[in-house]
Amino acid sequence: MNQHTVFGPTPPQTTYPNITSALTACQDHARYSGYTVVIRSTERREGKAFRAYFMCDRSGKYRNRTKPSVKPRKKRTLEGAQLGTATCKTDCPFQLCLDRQDDDSWHLRVNQLAHNHPPSLNAAAHPSLRARDLRAHRVEVTRSINSGDSVRSIISKLRAQGTRCIPRDIYNLG
Ligand SMILES: [Zn+2]
Repeated sequence: MNQHTVFGPTPPQTTYPNITSALTACQDHARYSGYTVVIRSTERREGKAFRAYFMCDRSGKYRNRTKPSVKPRKKRTLEGAQLGTATCKTDCPFQLCLDRQDDDSWHLRVNQLAHNHPPSLNAAAHPSLRARDLRAHRVEVTRSINSGDSVRSIISKLRAQGTRCIPRDIYNLG
């Protein structure tokens, strides 16, 4: 049950211009391996962030509802990373660490690659990731709709380009 497993290839341990681009790269990487990366915390020194931690969306302890939570419902999210809110927590140890470099770029390294839960088949279909993907195709999708293409054909066209979505995403876009 509590077996630790590594999902897919190691996220690229490279340098990124900022935290957001590193997070996006890790999310893109993770979802095809069956997990979702969220930003967990940043460490600051003299008001300046110098380290950030990315975790699996199943990190953290399962909340015991009989005990009053220290921070009820308010969940602070950083950099628009509103992911994994409704996921069952397994205290997953997966952790990536992002260090600010002297030139203000950010270098990604892996602290713990293994997860303590099975991969999620839905990771690739996380609504917020789908919406983000689809926004990149907004113009072409709108054009297709206007020229009378069926939603089904639009979806299969997008899928061929590596963008996964469901009909509702298309309607939401319009
Ligand atoms: Zn995990």
